[in-house]
Amino acid sequence: MTSRDHLQSVVTLDLEGVLVPEIWIAVANRTGISELARTTRDEPDYDVLMKYRLAILESRGLRLSDITTVISDLSPEPGAVEFLNELRSHTQVLILSDTFEQFAKPLMAQLGWPTLFCHRLVVDSESRVTDYQLRMPDQKRFAVEALHSLNYRVVAAGDSYNDTAMLGAADKGILFRSPPNVIAEFPQFESCVEYADLLALIGV
Ligand SMILES: [Mg+2]
Repeated sequence: MTSRDHLQSVVTLDLEGVLVPEIWIAVANRTGISELARTTRDEPDYDVLMKYRLAILESRGLRLSDITTVISDLSPEPGAVEFLNELRSHTQVLILSDTFEQFAKPLMAQLGWPTLFCHRLVVDSESRVTDYQLRMPDQKRFAVEALHSLNYRVVAAGDSYNDTAMLGAADKGILFRSPPNVIAEFPQFESCVEYADLLALIGV
């Protein structure tokens, strides 16, 4: 890879597991539907995971409004707001998430409205989630490549399987609060669990 060390930097961050809790796990805990606790940490194929989730919502009669009620009670991880504010005072930050606009909004408000690229749920007039729309497949990796085409150096951090293509495409990829299986599978990435260490690895 061509060295981009002399270029301006952008940081791309995953959302769930890095700045905020896993939304589907919170929904599983609140609703008592333990099957909804399955995440990208357990199922690397996102389409398989989402079809499984939507089938459960339909069979249990859970609507978007039920889920957003749970989400509006969630807070960012302790220290996440301060971390993000500090990072954004040094460099531009993009949040690249496989969540959905409808889920993210209450959490983005608490994070001070950082820029978010994510997906969208398809919802009918009675608040039933009928489908989901990926804006594009593999959006995290394509976003990093697009930033490279704009002559930026990219540092990326994420916790899970759906981040590893982004981390691999970036000039520096960092695993943050990843489970042991992800850390073991991707030893090429540095890994940390504290926001102070993440700031240090990002290099601000
Ligand atoms: Mg994550």
